[in-house]
Amino acid sequence: MTTTREALGVGIDRLRAAAVDTPRLDAEVLFAYIAGVDRTGILAHPEALVSDGQLAAFQRVVERRGAGEPVAYIRGMKEFHGLALRVDPRALIPRPETERLVDLGLAETMWRLAEGPRQPGALPVRIADVGTGSGAVAVALAVALRQRRVPAEDVTILATDVSADALDLARENAVSHAVGDRVGFVEADLLPPGSVACDVVLANLPYVRSAAMSDLPRPTTYEPPSALDGGVDGLTVIARLLDRLPAVLVPGGVALLEIGADQGEAIGVLLDDRLPGWPARVETDLTGLPRVAVISRPPS
Ligand code: GLN
Repeated sequence: MTTTREALGVGIDRLRAAAVDTPRLDAEVLFAYIAGVDRTGILAHPEALVSDGQLAAFQRVVERRGAGEPVAYIRGMKEFHGLALRVDPRALIPRPETERLVDLGLAETMWRLAEGPRQPGALPVRIADVGTGSGAVAVALAVALRQRRVPAEDVTILATDVSADALDLARENAVSHAVGDRVGFVEADLLPPGSVACDVVLANLPYVRSAAMSDLPRPTTYEPPSALDGGVDGLTVIARLLDRLPAVLVPGGVALLEIGADQGEAIGVLLDDRLPGWPARVETDLTGLPRVAVISRPPS
């Protein structure tokens, strides 16, 4: 019989040979997934015996990872903002840096509920998560609001996506985190046509330059290109959303848009062109890189 340590060793060697960036971590996570335990469990018991069935299953997932498939798609799960989200090729795998977008959106929402322009008995704070994909941002925000005991009727969250498949996944995530009543889903290119009044717009739209798509790491090629490809300058889809903002954001409303780490200056130029006079700043992520453009509609 094989021990956990031996099985892991073979898996790590295989992933290293396949030039996977983090062979040990990936092998441990995949072994834990197959064994149905958490990673600390396998590290604590390296002598535990592995059945032939488990070994074969582990070897199969190691082969998939070695061929380039992301760990998150193999497990069908990704941790995001403290939640276990279902993920599959219908949508982008949520990235840790996008947690910043959730935190900024949460702060904006709490401020508006507490002391912002909203009066008691006024309309709910209306939020849109544009291009929701797996639903990560909308679901994490809804869960965070519930944890803060914000009544469901005080905030509306509209999650949109142009992909019906992504929306199905987002709905599954909302239901499995018990916020199906707090998030509405609409299939739309950015936002539904006609009148949508929002206090807060959140979006992690595609922002990779088309020419850089072929340089993306191998696992990223398993993700939907439409969730990543932001056109020639990477900002084409974001620019389309900027053009909608005057008709969507209420006076005093704010849009929080995730951008690429190298797009801090380019977004400034684009904003001067599309929304002159609208105050804007760029928030950095935990690594200190530009990550979220914060764009306010001046109060009327
Ligand atoms: N941060 C992602 C990546 O680098 C891009 C996400 C996006 O385009 N919104 O793969």
